[in-house]
Amino acid sequence: MHKIGIDLGGTKIEGILLDESLNSLKRTRVSTPQNDYSSILNEISSLVNDLSKNISEFSIGICTPGAISKKTGLLKNSNTRCLIGKPIQQDLERKFGKTISIENDANCFAISEATIGCAKDYSVVFGVIMGTGVGGGIVIDGKIHHGRTNIAGEWGHHILHQNGNQCYCGKKGCVETYISGPALENRWEKLSGKKQDLAEIIKEKENPNYLQWKKEFLDNFGTSLANVIDILDPDAIVLGGGLSNIDFLYDEGVKNVYNQVFSDLVDTPILKNSLGDSAGVFGAALLN
Ligand SMILES: [Zn+2]
Repeated sequence: MHKIGIDLGGTKIEGILLDESLNSLKRTRVSTPQNDYSSILNEISSLVNDLSKNISEFSIGICTPGAISKKTGLLKNSNTRCLIGKPIQQDLERKFGKTISIENDANCFAISEATIGCAKDYSVVFGVIMGTGVGGGIVIDGKIHHGRTNIAGEWGHHILHQNGNQCYCGKKGCVETYISGPALENRWEKLSGKKQDLAEIIKEKENPNYLQWKKEFLDNFGTSLANVIDILDPDAIVLGGGLSNIDFLYDEGVKNVYNQVFSDLVDTPILKNSLGDSAGVFGAALLN
């Protein structure tokens, strides 16, 4: 059966068609209608119609930030605000007359890297997204591990420092409040008095505050991933999102993780993603 994947983002909706051997046959994108739920559904539907032309049997998977609540069936925690609280899965299933799969971007990232990306030779894979937000997904033998209540892998909201930074989720001290892009930029501004973005900050090696900033970053990165290894002991960890382009995470960062793991033997590969921005759309297709 062919597979269609749709990556529903805040600014663009991208679609892909894969054949049975996971070759990409067609790929297309449109802008996301702003603040208009029913137009978004219509755009998804016309993308699917376009991709499925002349194809009789196909599955549909959708990648979008946020998660379907197991309690209500409604989408929650999405940064495309007009989708929050909407029964997007049911509405799309009604439109297409078949079941579809929906997963958040971290799970789609993890399954695409674990299936066709840099972690395809590993069976237990922890995929990490570090960007504006911090997320994670667990794939075991090619399948997403959801957990009892659908929060498995939500690494960005485990508590790193008790009574630490206030997080939007209501808790204090979440990983995301220390090592997301905005959190790191805020910390830099506090230390140096300069408002700069990450790409600029990592060039500030001569700034007297740089070592402090980097040490905190590496310590937080190390503790938060060492916690994952202690609990899950994955075969590989893959980094994605904008921060995955920071080179020092792959040498000093990895060392810092290893130093904090509860074991005398740790050699977990911590890999840079190989699919880049395409992970979402491939991951969506691979959900089925
Ligand atoms: Zn949080």
